[in-house]
Amino acid sequence: MWRGVTRRRPFLTGGSVNRVGTVQRGKMVIYAIRQFEDGTQLINWNTEQPRDDHKPNDWATPGRIEDFIEPFQDWKFDWLDIPQLFADAEFIMEYPMVDRDPVDRWVWDRIALMGDAAHPMYPRGGNGGAQAILDAECLSELLADEEDFRAALREFEDRRLDTVNKIVLTNRSQPPDYIIETVDKLTGGEPFERIEDVIDPAELAAISDRYKAVANYTLPEL
Ligand SMILES: Cc1cc2nc3c(=O)[nH]c(=O)nc-3n(C[C@H](O)[C@H](O)[C@H](O)COP(=O)(O)OP(=O)(O)OC[C@H]3O[C@@H](n4cnc5c(N)ncnc54)[C@H](O)[C@@H]3O)c2cc1C
Repeated sequence: MWRGVTRRRPFLTGGSVNRVGTVQRGKMVIYAIRQFEDGTQLINWNTEQPRDDHKPNDWATPGRIEDFIEPFQDWKFDWLDIPQLFADAEFIMEYPMVDRDPVDRWVWDRIALMGDAAHPMYPRGGNGGAQAILDAECLSELLADEEDFRAALREFEDRRLDTVNKIVLTNRSQPPDYIIETVDKLTGGEPFERIEDVIDPAELAAISDRYKAVANYTLPEL
């Protein structure tokens, strides 16, 4: 996976989150993360493609365009020129798509794991950081209310471990972009006019709702 940020004028609505392509043939996620006073935006982009070789999972490995551009070199859409987006990037980083098998324990007496130390997951659901924040919220509330901090740590594990482990596994098997993979299989990768002709809208909603239910993204939970 290669990712970077590029400053440029807004595209589409200026607030669109775009998931384009498939993991097998090359996939991108592109969205704005900052608005500047001169009207330009900082665009965050991430590319993914299957590879046999990969570097160690180090946040600071610089990426080189020539190492990853091949599946994307013809991606010149009327709404965004992808090779240009790469060429204008302020920086590019490389990171392997890795996670860890869920573990059945986060707490040892006075010590608790949380965030990525407890549950590193594929960044396919926009969820690793979010779950780390929910860990912190849960743990801080328990520590504030419970005099016995060891009991608070155990309760933290009871409340969070099963929920987050399910998200780790779902990010492997049916992350939100499972919708794209499903439609790609149904169409054989061929263009189509109306998504309703390819897949029943109820099935689309069901795929999305399944992830929301696992990740507690349902409206009542929020
Ligand atoms: C490409 C990519 C895209 C992502 N996109 C999203 C997203 O859209 N939404 C989302 O919610 N999550 C996303 N994530 C996941 C998110 O970045 C992580 O889940 C989150 O950063 C985990 O936070 P953390 O505090 O647990 O760990 P980290 O962010 O890894 O923080 C741990 C810190 O500890 C420091 N450290 C390590 N060892 C020591 C030591 N011995 N002493 C002192 N300090 C030490 C490290 O330098 C680091 O700063 C993404 C991840 C990747 C790789």
